[in-house]
Amino acid sequence: MNDIAQRIHDIKANLPGNVELVAVSKFHPKEAIMEAYEGGHRVFGESRANELVEKARSLPDDIEWHFIGHLQTNKVRQLVGKTSLIESVDSERLLQLIDRESERAGVVTRVLMQVHVAREETKFGFLPEELLEYFRERRFETLRAVHICGVMGMASNTDDLDRVRADFREIYTLFRTVADDPALGLRGFDTVSMGMSGDWKIAVEEGSDMIRIGTRIFGPREY
Ligand SMILES: *Cc1c(COP(=O)(O)O)cnc(C)c1O
Repeated sequence: MNDIAQRIHDIKANLPGNVELVAVSKFHPKEAIMEAYEGGHRVFGESRANELVEKARSLPDDIEWHFIGHLQTNKVRQLVGKTSLIESVDSERLLQLIDRESERAGVVTRVLMQVHVAREETKFGFLPEELLEYFRERRFETLRAVHICGVMGMASNTDDLDRVRADFREIYTLFRTVADDPALGLRGFDTVSMGMSGDWKIAVEEGSDMIRIGTRIFGPREY
């Protein structure tokens, strides 16, 4: 087994069976993805629309592409139909645009709502109270070609592991609050994506069922 496939294998060996591994291949060449592919891996994450589309065009069709970056509205059209999951829907405007473009293209796009709990870092994502309001006001009912499958979030970028754990707990609690609300009656709202190279074990302990690992699999990125 090649090194990349071996590292994927090692991570999976430590994952509960219900947790999906997304191999974050952003900024890494197609050859690296093919090494993972040859080891049997099929789910990859990209953070730039152009890069995802370019890689998808020339790599095997049975790869599932997750989009995990900030999606600019002018890139939505090119991305729709190419992803198995957009994990990083960070505004209602973006959600509506994905809906409109998906309907136009005749596809249903699966998405996660990105929540912002970390103290610093990215400004992107719904605040917990905004997300609750979005669902409680049933604003999702206007969607015609988007399926909201759950939430994605990141912990604060800090060595303080208690802080990291508290952030994951907050994301998970928010996810459960929405998922378990019988009045909302959401179907297929069952995914909470959290955990990266440095913190995935804590994320899994706190209930994650999808982890997104780049560096630990492919090595450092060259931007
Ligand atoms: C880049 C990225 C990852 C992977 O980060 P690593 O630390 O390299 O594992 C995970 N999630 C998101 C949203 C990212 O942008």
